[in-house]
Amino acid sequence: MSLNVLVIGAGMGGLSAALAFQRLGHTVTVMERVVEMRPVGAAISLWPNGVKVMHALGLGARIEALSGDMRRMRYLSHDGALLSDFSLLPLYESVSQRACPIARAALQQTLFDAVGFEHIHLGQECVDYVSDDEGVTAFFAGGQQVRADLLVVADGTHSRLRDKIVGQHVQRQYVGYVNWNVRVPADAALAPLDSWDQYVGEGKRVSLMPMGTGGNEAGEQELYCFFDVPLAAGTPNDPARYREELSEHFAGWGDNVQALIARIDPARMARVEIHDITPLPTLIDTRVALLGDAAHGMAPDLGQGGCQAMEDAWVLAEAVKTSLVESSNTAQALQHALARFDAARVERVGEIVTRARKRAAMIHGHDLADTQAWYAELAQEDGVGVREGIKKTVVGGPLG
Ligand code: FAD
Repeated sequence: MSLNVLVIGAGMGGLSAALAFQRLGHTVTVMERVVEMRPVGAAISLWPNGVKVMHALGLGARIEALSGDMRRMRYLSHDGALLSDFSLLPLYESVSQRACPIARAALQQTLFDAVGFEHIHLGQECVDYVSDDEGVTAFFAGGQQVRADLLVVADGTHSRLRDKIVGQHVQRQYVGYVNWNVRVPADAALAPLDSWDQYVGEGKRVSLMPMGTGGNEAGEQELYCFFDVPLAAGTPNDPARYREELSEHFAGWGDNVQALIARIDPARMARVEIHDITPLPTLIDTRVALLGDAAHGMAPDLGQGGCQAMEDAWVLAEAVKTSLVESSNTAQALQHALARFDAARVERVGEIVTRARKRAAMIHGHDLADTQAWYAELAQEDGVGVREGIKKTVVGGPLG
């Protein structure tokens, strides 16, 4: 049976869901608020659980071709002294998939092309919905109403529809640090082209990750770079001051960090106060599913927000597939499917949100003794613990 599925939001969560339903033969319409899609942020690291979903949706080869070849990880202290250097290849072998750091623009374009522009309607802000046993009606700012069998809400961390779905007011929480992120041309003098380098000290972090070419016209390899600094909420966000701000926060750090700050293009940089959402008790309403950052905005310290959005999309579409085989009554099948989705996702994403918050606290000096202990551990790290931690997250996903 073919359903009419209405998706709110054309971020990586909404587009992954659209694709997952299209591939099962359903008719999908995506409604997106903005009139022009411009991804916020430089790049994203898709860990193997996210890449596995992309493969299952037919996009894995394209994503692998556009992404960086990150084979190892190095931690360095603020002055550039090497703390640890270990391979990620045993991880990739054990989960049969590598990670794919990729330009956000390239990922978004890949998803857009796969879903098909004709199915994505820009400039459509969803303001409300009403569901009943027969279907769901979504209401848009321009007065339009769209009726569907199933509503997938993927409207991001500031979700307008979330409170209604979960039946409570949800407040985002500040995680306590600011992240500046940007792409720069790759240069082996800054960082090896196969390594994720992270400089740590004073509860701050500077990261350089190989992110491939993203399909850029010149075929130039780039680095995805970010700077994390613990700061109070509400500090001014002025692109004209980014370089000066970073020079102040990272005064006295090593040569590579200074060289990186000199090379950034502030006009291409994003500055984000990092927030998360306390794990939600449910992600469903009648005929409605909530997914992606709207459902589980999290600190980016495990690199899992986007990966979990992709997992959500896969699990939801598969739950609908299974339930439609079991029942010919659409209302009943969707009720079972949504219950399955909720049972599969609430605990999984809640655990990852909580773990990401703890890791953010440790990296960013919430308790300086903990952070100092972590720096000391990094100097002894042989990679086994880090690889095991990532593997646990990957194999806990729907595709193992
Ligand atoms: P979004 O990308 O926010 O998309 C939501 C869409 O809905 C937007 O296009 C928006 O315009 C639209 N919308 C909003 N309201 C409405 C409405 N009312 N009607 C219609 N449309 C609407 N994740 C990883 O997996 N790996 C990483 O390495 C990683 N690094 C990160 C680094 C940083 C600094 C940050 C901040 C996040 C990082 N993440 C990472 C998380 C990842 O970016 C998010 O989890 C992901 O973008 C969420 O996708 P989404 O589709 O749920 O939401």
